[in-house]
Amino acid sequence: MFYAGPMNILTSRDSSVRTYLPAKPEIAWQRELRTAIRDPKILCRQLELPASWARMAHEAGGDFPLFVPASYLRRIERGNPEDPLLRQILPVAEELDETVGFIEDPVGDRAATFEPGLLHKYRGRALLLLTGACAVHCRYCFRRHFPYDALPHAPNAWDRPLAALAADDSIHEVILSGGDPLMWVDRRLATLVERISAIGHIRRLRVHTRLPVMIPSRVTGALLKWLAGGRLTPVVVLHANHARELSEDVAVAVTRLHRAGAMLLNQAVLLRRVNDSVAAQASLCERLVELRVVPYYLHQLDRVRSAVHFEVPVERGLEIVEALRRQLPGYAVPRYVQEVAGGPYKVLLR
Ligand SMILES: *Cc1c(COP(=O)(O)O)cnc(C)c1O
Ligand code: SF4
Repeated sequence: MFYAGPMNILTSRDSSVRTYLPAKPEIAWQRELRTAIRDPKILCRQLELPASWARMAHEAGGDFPLFVPASYLRRIERGNPEDPLLRQILPVAEELDETVGFIEDPVGDRAATFEPGLLHKYRGRALLLLTGACAVHCRYCFRRHFPYDALPHAPNAWDRPLAALAADDSIHEVILSGGDPLMWVDRRLATLVERISAIGHIRRLRVHTRLPVMIPSRVTGALLKWLAGGRLTPVVVLHANHARELSEDVAVAVTRLHRAGAMLLNQAVLLRRVNDSVAAQASLCERLVELRVVPYYLHQLDRVRSAVHFEVPVERGLEIVEALRRQLPGYAVPRYVQEVAGGPYKVLLR
């Protein structure tokens, strides 16, 4: 799958992220990251959940511990252990299960990396992995075991990936991914995008991010400038799995992206007891369209270790998508896809 990857700024082994976060003056989204909830005890107290859940979350989190910003926490219903937003972020005992076939790199990212930080799996598009850091630790993340410490660190570290892009004129689109590429500060992103724009055969800039959903204040004026103020056609692929993630403050952020001229798409992951019903998918799609975001992909879960309990059988996914086709306009029904390691594109499940 290709939504962004794990690790928050403080547990991250990607020290470049820390370097680029200025201590002062701190802007709103950076403060949200710094004050994000990492302690399961605090989470359980705030959400009125049993203390035993905090102990479980502590044990199950392992090297991918609880990490969730307060802006997302406010959207979780108190006292409801089955809340679909809660299930995405709370470590549970099932993560410790070992299941045959659920592995560390289910989509073959390691084999497709030909320069550190640059992934080139699909024709015409290349993916730059900017960081391992994210604004949240999604428990089902397929990149939770990715070796992010191999990403470029030094100030001139992007020279080689950029030279590789410049040398291959079959590439027309650069996808910024991670982790979450919007964990980089705008000044640094602006410099990178300027260098990408200088490569004549690149036409589009795509950003894969969950940050506008997790911390809507991340959509700053400076971001809109480097994203949509230049030569490249901007495409933003958001990641929301449930209509309730798209609260009013998120709507404001998304509208700003739209007004700036970015094409907006969403990718979701089909997750057991989060969004594996026709009703949940239909309200997600309706809400996305309301915000002028096209429901682009619905991903079958990648079989990553520790995420077994989120898997929905493909037959059930097909039923849901078929039901969506009966009740929604064609453009509001996402493509139900699965990533196959080494394949030339994502496989459409029918
Ligand atoms: C999914 C993916 C893309 C983009 O695929 P589209 O079908 O164009 O959305 C590019 N690179 C990688 C590594 C991907 O996983
Ligand atoms: S935002 Fe969530 S799903 Fe995306 S890369 Fe980060 S942890 Fe993984």
